[in-house]
Amino acid sequence: MSSIRIATWNVKSIAPRQPLNARREWIEQVINPDIIVLTEAKAQEKGSGTWDGWTSLYRQGGIDSKRPWGTVLASSRYQLEQITTVKKKFSKYELDTHFPGALVAADVYEGQESWGTIVGMYGLTVDRNGDSNGSGRYSVPTLMNDLEAILKSGRTRVVVAGDLNLHPQNVTHLFTEIGLVDLIHYTSEDRENLKDCVGCGVGHECGHLWTHKNGNADGNGKAQQLDYIFASKDLLDEVDVVTGGIQDFPDAWSLSDHAPVVVDFVR
Ligand SMILES: [Zn+2]
Repeated sequence: MSSIRIATWNVKSIAPRQPLNARREWIEQVINPDIIVLTEAKAQEKGSGTWDGWTSLYRQGGIDSKRPWGTVLASSRYQLEQITTVKKKFSKYELDTHFPGALVAADVYEGQESWGTIVGMYGLTVDRNGDSNGSGRYSVPTLMNDLEAILKSGRTRVVVAGDLNLHPQNVTHLFTEIGLVDLIHYTSEDRENLKDCVGCGVGHECGHLWTHKNGNADGNGKAQQLDYIFASKDLLDEVDVVTGGIQDFPDAWSLSDHAPVVVDFVR
């Protein structure tokens, strides 16, 4: 049985803990994804390499001059055909206009064969005026207009992944409303309870993944999940295993302040 592995990881290009080459090697050797959504990512970092060997899609220059990083969609094994517009009934809808550089979408091909669609997104921590508000509570619902447009364009096999800067209690139901299933929640019975999970929304036996370090002193952070992977209903039967967080990637904090989330789909 073959599979397709899709991952998301915030690689902290803002203040890298390790050179890009070291993070790329860790991705290749430890995560080993077929497709990965990288957030807070730079396509190149000075003196420390590029994404050579990967097909990568991103906005040149990142979000803006203050934030020269963004969302990167990369694959080592599949062809990614970027989607910049989707058809609406009487018009075209242009993607990634709300926070340019935060959302990247592509149809996934293996040769001529279409697998589905992958969307990478990042919940910028800004309000409607662009001022910092400390969470994705304004940006994520805004970016979800793009997700709805993609889902309404006739695409039925859609995976969405990224760092939303929101806790699970503000995420799972929001995405259910547009037909996207939170795969960490969906597979929660496969995992142990995450003790003292911040913003959980479920309580005991939540099965959330600790994906953001959230604290300076080693070991003194509070367990919180900010990173997610969702799938449209047509893909649920193909979900095999969901892993991630510091639970499955115990050395992640040495490379970033986030740990990855990984989903294997059967093929
Ligand atoms: Zn929880």
